[in-house]
Amino acid sequence: MRYIAPAGTPVTLLDLVSGLGSGLVGGRSTEELREALTKVSGQPRCWPIASGRAAMTLTLQAMVRACAAPHRREVLIPGYTCYSVPAAIERAGLKVRLCDVDPNTLGIDPDGLRRTDFRNVLAVVTANLYGVPNALADIETIARDQGIFMLDDAAQSLGARLGNRAVGGFGDAGLYSFDKGKNITTLQGGAIVAARAPLANTIEELWGALPQSAASQTSAYALKLALYSVLLRPGLYGLVQRIPGLGLGKTMYETRYPVARFSGVLAGLAVRLAGRLDQINRVRVTNAGRIEAALQGARGIRIPQRYDGAAPVFARYPLRVERAEQRDELITNLNRAGIGATASYPQALIDVPEVARALDHPADQSSSRLVARTIVTIPTHAYCPADIGHRVRAIVDRTLQ
Ligand SMILES: *Cc1c(COP(=O)(O)O)cnc(C)c1O
Repeated sequence: MRYIAPAGTPVTLLDLVSGLGSGLVGGRSTEELREALTKVSGQPRCWPIASGRAAMTLTLQAMVRACAAPHRREVLIPGYTCYSVPAAIERAGLKVRLCDVDPNTLGIDPDGLRRTDFRNVLAVVTANLYGVPNALADIETIARDQGIFMLDDAAQSLGARLGNRAVGGFGDAGLYSFDKGKNITTLQGGAIVAARAPLANTIEELWGALPQSAASQTSAYALKLALYSVLLRPGLYGLVQRIPGLGLGKTMYETRYPVARFSGVLAGLAVRLAGRLDQINRVRVTNAGRIEAALQGARGIRIPQRYDGAAPVFARYPLRVERAEQRDELITNLNRAGIGATASYPQALIDVPEVARALDHPADQSSSRLVARTIVTIPTHAYCPADIGHRVRAIVDRTLQ
């Protein structure tokens, strides 16, 4: 049966040959990627790196060095986000502190953030999940007023904008990811962007000391990419799910990953895909619009609200069911119909044992838990059929009646 993968970027064999080829022989791909990402982010400096996790670890380490107050060792993060975020904080030797999310927007609730005790806080991290911008201007103002750093996590939001500024371009530094299922993918990769001098110079220093990516790994990724490019197609995705080592759909708390530079070969592919970013995002936004239009008036679901001036890029389309007990049945029915719906991250971070164990200040996380129990994501990528919205609506009506 045809199966629409939960998320993905169409990568053609021409992309692979041309992108990886220029990365291999050109020697300028890392520079070109830096230029492309400074344009997209609006931040003047960029450091390609092995992964989004590595980007976060290195940026936090730079923030520690750039901060004059050694007691500031807590990092405020949304109570519902990718598990790599708390793992990167642990890896940087820092403490996680959770901020409950707003279930209506899926991002940090700025009012809750304002009520936080900031005395030991080093930085606040955004999430911008599914390509939808958080309350970035408010969070930026709060961070500035409190004298803490802000790291704008745009791992799922490359190309999204809020009020004429790029997501990833708010606060002191931002990060992007090129992992599977992100806005563009080289299967693994990431980048840091930043502007202002003291922090940016510290990032530059730490990045300059990083080891090169292992060449043997690069060829393994090239091979996996070739499989990915062919098998993401709906006729074949069932096979992709079974390739060992791709780890598709898994959410892991992992602190042992390489903090190394980004492979120059994979950077060639990233440059090529970044050159098509607007088109790739436009397709996802169009499909999200189809889903949203078809779901108007549907019973039993909530469509997340967007902030004024937000231009999301919808790496996936998120919605929530009103009754948590119906969520798994809806996902099962969508998958039976060949639509790769997911329950996103399985737990609020407070319920992830590795996170809970290390928390000094367990705060109320009821909204993050509500999101974890009720969220459903729908695919938006270029392999979605034009009637995706109507197909989703029919299954929603049948399941949630
Ligand atoms: C994927 C992701 C990361 C980590 O990126 P990797 O490249 O997978 O290490 C960080 N934050 C968010 C919100 C993510 O979705």
